Amino acid sequence: MSNKLDASLMPDEQGFFGEYGGRFVPPMLEPIMQEIGDAYEKIKDDPVFKEELFYLQKHYTGRPSPIFHAKNISNNIGGAQIYLKREDLNHTGAHKINHCLGEALLAKKMGKKKLIAETGAGQHGVALATAAALVGLECDIYMGEVDIAKEAPNVTRMNILGAKVIPVTHGLKTLKEAVDSAFEAYVGDPITQFYAIGSVVGPHPFPQMVRDFQSVIGREAKEQFQELTGKQPENLVACVGGGSNAMGLFTEFLNDEDVNIFGVEPAGTSFKTGDHAATLKLGTPGMIHGFKCYLLQDENGEPSAVNTIASGLDYPGVGPQHSYLKDVKRVNYETINDKEAIDAFMRLSREEGIIPALESAHAVAHAMKMAATMSKNETILVNLSGRGDKDIDYIVEVYGKELGLA
Ligand SMILES: *Cc1c(COP(=O)(O)O)cnc(C)c1O
Repeated sequence: MSNKLDASLMPDEQGFFGEYGGRFVPPMLEPIMQEIGDAYEKIKDDPVFKEELFYLQKHYTGRPSPIFHAKNISNNIGGAQIYLKREDLNHTGAHKINHCLGEALLAKKMGKKKLIAETGAGQHGVALATAAALVGLECDIYMGEVDIAKEAPNVTRMNILGAKVIPVTHGLKTLKEAVDSAFEAYVGDPITQFYAIGSVVGPHPFPQMVRDFQSVIGREAKEQFQELTGKQPENLVACVGGGSNAMGLFTEFLNDEDVNIFGVEPAGTSFKTGDHAATLKLGTPGMIHGFKCYLLQDENGEPSAVNTIASGLDYPGVGPQHSYLKDVKRVNYETINDKEAIDAFMRLSREEGIIPALESAHAVAHAMKMAATMSKNETILVNLSGRGDKDIDYIVEVYGKELGLA
């Protein structure tokens, strides 16, 4: 029996990927989510919208992002050939601009006045503030006070871009509380505001919509890889936080049965609760932020504390489509710990002259591990989701001595 999966049919009308996803929101938000879904369905195949988005992807973001053959690392490992899809070269330095532009354009077409979102380390906030400035929308970013103190440069960026950074002062004053506050503000006025979710998570239609906006990565990669090597990659690797850059690369290849696909989660410092964010490896089905997915949770269904050096991967839930792809065994989910990620971060910097985001370093680390066990004519395409400039201060502060940088 073929286990063939038709990705183009996902999700169903209610937003389910198998048993995952859906839309579990307060009744007053139900019609609003429906309206966003309807507007998106109408606009996504509209030639004018597609052309506008394509124009911005090309002339603003700088797409297509290149594919680079990391020959030095490949040779030094002596196994499979590693290729990098360079999302780090996008305007604002990561893949997040892909869905922020899509969401901002949609909000504008729907007549919304303001984009709102939460941010943890500030990466989603900066990408959204950028898109808001470009399309001419106001932008409120909710951010925990603790994160505001830690991530001063991103707060400054958002301010310069004209966004309002709203400090969140309750609880632990970090990402989870920021989500609560942004959500509360959204419920207060869902008519003029548009809640721009930052990954393939949240209630339907966001997992599908964010995936579609990101899937440009895989569409480009398929063509570029063929042109560069005369074949398709045998293996794909991407890091998984919420899962947007991974779905961006994977979607175009899901129906290609010969392509092996790997998602990489952060194992942090250990597999003890609170030390990692390996949701698909160690979680169980549960509910978070209006949808069903694998979840790191306690016995009451409350999300567990999570930990990783890569703040963009620090989420106790994961996209519903990833949850489904795990169950049907189409994608293999693996883990990389902090130490392995730092090692990959340094190696890519020293051997290829590319400083990767710590998130992306998880994907690179797993690709390096795999490459060592494979033959020289096999290939691995890694999604290099972002650049590491944002991480250098942290690296020096915490690992400077060990790495000879301080
Ligand atoms: C936010 C972020 C991620 C994690 O988000 P996904 O939705 O899992 O892709 C990964 N890499 C970078 C560079 C990021 O900024």
